Amino acid sequence: MSKFNLPEYDYDAIIIGGGPAGYTAGIYAARSGLKTLLVEGAATVSQITITDLIENYPGIPDGINGFDLMQLFKKQALNFGLEIITNDVLAIKNNIATPFIWDVTLEDKSFKALSVIAATGARWRNLEVPGEQEFAGRGISYCATCDGPFYRNKNVVVVGGGDTALQEALFLTNFASKVTIIHRRNRLRAAEILQKRSFTEKKIEFVWNAKLIEVTGQEFVTGVKVADVESGNINEIEAEGVFIFVGRIPHTDIFRNILKLDAGGYIITDENMRTSAAGIFAAGDCRAKQFRQVVTAAGDGANAIYSAELYVEELKGESY
Ligand code: NAP
Repeated sequence: MSKFNLPEYDYDAIIIGGGPAGYTAGIYAARSGLKTLLVEGAATVSQITITDLIENYPGIPDGINGFDLMQLFKKQALNFGLEIITNDVLAIKNNIATPFIWDVTLEDKSFKALSVIAATGARWRNLEVPGEQEFAGRGISYCATCDGPFYRNKNVVVVGGGDTALQEALFLTNFASKVTIIHRRNRLRAAEILQKRSFTEKKIEFVWNAKLIEVTGQEFVTGVKVADVESGNINEIEAEGVFIFVGRIPHTDIFRNILKLDAGGYIITDENMRTSAAGIFAAGDCRAKQFRQVVTAAGDGANAIYSAELYVEELKGESY
């Protein structure tokens, strides 16, 4: 017997997000018989689906393309009978009369759930310099896997000093004749192994302590203006492609009024993925944490749905 008088609801759990965190939560939920719906974004795709090569996901020694890995996650979830729809979540709310029910509003319908898993991920950050918007799709790119082949035997620049910038720069050497990495400091944030590979790759050159201040061109990009952060001197670099990898912004706008977020907009959780609101759990790149990887997203997803399951059992009066 439930200790609460539960009103009508559609799902034990609604998972928002179709990346590694969301699908792992979905696999565990469906396998344990929790009545669950996974909502995949219609307007956005998981960042992992545009990652060329993932070579540190355990159990896949030869590496795998990000899109292919997500297809495997999805297949496994479907094998356990997970219900999946493609739609954008517009709002989530509860009310005083029914505090245990979360109303999840999609574009054309809404569902009631006892718990919600926020696995909404993050998107690429823009550099916000003159020319960036103007040349979007005409030389500016945020995805080497998608656009790299257009730059065969051409010069490209990459902006950023993190794992993404170096990994994508290395991938671009398959096509471009020269890849210039522009970084605002004289030290890289990226993992040691990627640094070593980049330093020994003949096609890669670094411009240190430099900020890209403008993308230039006419119909298409022809180059960039770069300012030295110490002297302020401005140099021009000729390039037909500009790849920007300067971090991410979490997709957490729909949670802004109901959950505690950190200064960067990431959802704050405890170690069991519980957020500041009872019944909402967060997993993956949208969560405030140190290390964002496919494997940590998957771990978060499993933890989040397990916490949701315990919470739902408690609500229903079925906990041991
Ligand atoms: P990140 O680690 O946040 O690095 C962003 C880079 O962009 C930093 O080097 C930063 O410079 C620079 N940057 C930020 N804002 C800038 C601006 N306005 N102008 C110029 N430069 C700017 O982001 P990320 O590389 O996308 O990685 C995100 C997460 O995914 C990380 O946790 C990373 O480990 C993970 N990831 C892992 C792998 C892998 O393991 N193979 C691959 C990709 C991503 P500063 O260094 O000066 O701050």
